[in-house]
Amino acid sequence: MTDRDIIERIQKVTGVGYINFRKKRKHQTKDVWEWGVGNRREVLSLIRAVRSWMGERRSQRIEEMEEYNKKNPLKRQEKGRVQHGTRAKYSKYGCRCEPCKFAEHKYYLKRVERRNAKKNLEKNLVS
Ligand SMILES: [Zn+2]
Repeated sequence: MTDRDIIERIQKVTGVGYINFRKKRKHQTKDVWEWGVGNRREVLSLIRAVRSWMGERRSQRIEEMEEYNKKNPLKRQEKGRVQHGTRAKYSKYGCRCEPCKFAEHKYYLKRVERRNAKKNLEKNLVS
């Protein structure tokens, strides 16, 4: 796209993505502006928002992306955001939703297991 204002508008309307500028190449007559979305959270919010306007082929592709996301959830938390299903969200932010409670519980079980392992080790050393 060679119109910067259009690219800026799509970023503003969608609220996601980044803008790149490319100087024209030798065979091209104009400089180019690009809008792209790379962040998974942003991609997902975008495809969910536009889905109802998509035809069959793109809807299918969106479905594939949702499937991929389900099978390969993000492993790392995004900077500056504490996600649900983490102990931090439970203890620091007081969230009591099921995924957060489960995360806290899982950690609790691990702690108990570690404590018992330590006790057993001491017992075995003494006897
Ligand atoms: Zn939560």
